[in-house]
Amino acid sequence: MKICSLSSGSSGNCIFVSSGLTKILVDAGASGVKIEQELAAIGESIDSIDALLITHEHTDHIKSMGVLARKHAISIYGTRGTLEAALNGRYSVGKISPLLLNYIFSDNSFMVGDILVSPFSVSHDAADPVAYCFESGGKKIGTATDLGYFDDRIVEKLLNSDILYLESNHDIHMLEAGSYPYALKERVKGEKGHLSNDSCAELVTRLCHESVNHVSHVILAHLSEENNFPELAFETVNSEIKIRLEDNERPELHVAPRYVHSFIAETL
Ligand SMILES: [Zn+2]
Ligand SMILES: [Zn+2]
Repeated sequence: MKICSLSSGSSGNCIFVSSGLTKILVDAGASGVKIEQELAAIGESIDSIDALLITHEHTDHIKSMGVLARKHAISIYGTRGTLEAALNGRYSVGKISPLLLNYIFSDNSFMVGDILVSPFSVSHDAADPVAYCFESGGKKIGTATDLGYFDDRIVEKLLNSDILYLESNHDIHMLEAGSYPYALKERVKGEKGHLSNDSCAELVTRLCHESVNHVSHVILAHLSEENNFPELAFETVNSEIKIRLEDNERPELHVAPRYVHSFIAETL
């Protein structure tokens, strides 16, 4: 299996996941054109995408959901809360054929081709947000962005992944000293906000230490433009890994760029 971020952050999120046979996009927060361009840049085509999974209805995750559905008749998966909010929300995705909509439930796994998809609830200020794990051929990829905090349940869901794609949204000091209004700072920091670099470092360390397998790659994603730097997110997580993990537990660390595709992480 492989995973590659096509676009990451508040300007638009989209992840490509593939088993070779089956190809999935998670979220369509960048423009349709941009997603097609970045897919082409990694040698893939929008026409070979089997499913579009939506995590939640925020604009940076659904921007081109309607366009992709109408133009390429891609099947869309999401919780009822997410899809209804996306279709009826303030940001208009336009009309989507009901035949393309697949309602999923947190903790109920389903198959897309030869990939087992396992959605699980995350704490975020949206109707019914989820994150997804993917399994195929005995390998697992775990993803989680847009979550205010993680707990043992989240760790359990992501455990034993070969590759992790995790939110490292903000540096808490940059956020506190930064220009965001008070209410927005509280929102980002809050239970239904975003995961800080420090929390991400703790999550990565736990997962790499507690998984039975070796986590080969970790991609840090959904970085805040105002309250983070790629180098800072990388260093925060990397220094924690160096201190707390044995050599043989350490993953290769990557940061998903904001506007272009990331490193393509492939299971061994
Ligand atoms: Zn969000
Ligand atoms: Zn987001």
